Amino acid sequence: MPQKLKIAVQKSGRLTEESLKLLKECGISIENGGDQLKAAARNFPVEILYLRNSDIPQYVEDGVADIAILGENVVIEKRKNIKVVERIGFSKCRLSMAVPKAVNYEGPAFFSGKKIATSYPNSLSDFLRANNIEAEIHEISGSVEIAPNIGLADAICDLVSTGSTLFSNGLKEVEIILKSEACLVSGKNLAPEIQEILDNLLFRIRAVLASRNNRYILLNAPNERIPDIIAVLPGMKSPTIMPLGEEGWSSIHSVIGETDFWAIIDQLKACGAQGILVMPIEKMVI
Ligand code: ATP
Ligand code: MG
Repeated sequence: MPQKLKIAVQKSGRLTEESLKLLKECGISIENGGDQLKAAARNFPVEILYLRNSDIPQYVEDGVADIAILGENVVIEKRKNIKVVERIGFSKCRLSMAVPKAVNYEGPAFFSGKKIATSYPNSLSDFLRANNIEAEIHEISGSVEIAPNIGLADAICDLVSTGSTLFSNGLKEVEIILKSEACLVSGKNLAPEIQEILDNLLFRIRAVLASRNNRYILLNAPNERIPDIIAVLPGMKSPTIMPLGEEGWSSIHSVIGETDFWAIIDQLKACGAQGILVMPIEKMVI
């Protein structure tokens, strides 16, 4: 039987939907999203294993799964022999220290001798050690944010994205320990046939990520302004320029990054561009 790349994905949680969406955009259609432990893809040699997020690093180290989609925070916390192959941009969050709002926080010395609740004991103890602080770590597996209110802890170390959970529990974020996003991880010793499937998948993932971060732009401009417009629009190689039916005008096509998008549009308008169209890119192979 031909080999399959075994991909671990969180069974149900924050990462599940985006992970399956990414695989789908890579052309991998999975029959059964999360109802069972395993699912095969119809058109690509992969098998999906639906697992608990916190168990995944061990499974990848043991080779039960070859690769996984996982929050970087879990990779750092679990200290397993696995490697990050690619950062994939979603589930951005940070692991932070938070204390009750009323605390007059003046620095990490506050934590000395305190009780701190967390689901990330290794990352927390690294932080405490780096700051030469002795504190009591109270490990709990979920709902860490309620610990100070029920008298279980003086502070917490937990994941934050918007901060609204902290806010509604009367806490404030005072230190960022690490920043995280979803990433693709792999075991350290993949068999060559498995590595080959992974390389093929990575090629697709990079094309999907590039397409998410870029837009196709086309616009009309008078010919004498073309040099100014080219200076603003580098394009993948260089912009495409085609004559319009109207004498003295051209249509210019290029690709621009999502991040500097609005600044570029403003510059193009200032260079005399008209009829600017911006379109999503389905896939982008660089
Ligand atoms: P499991 O129950 O599967 O063992 P879990 O309960 O830790 O894991 P989730 O709460 O679904 O799982 O979080 C999964 C991942 O999503 C986290 O490890 C982190 O990378 C990311 N994440 C967690 N909290 C946030 C947040 N507030 N904003 C954005 N991403 C987050
Ligand atoms: Mg959970």
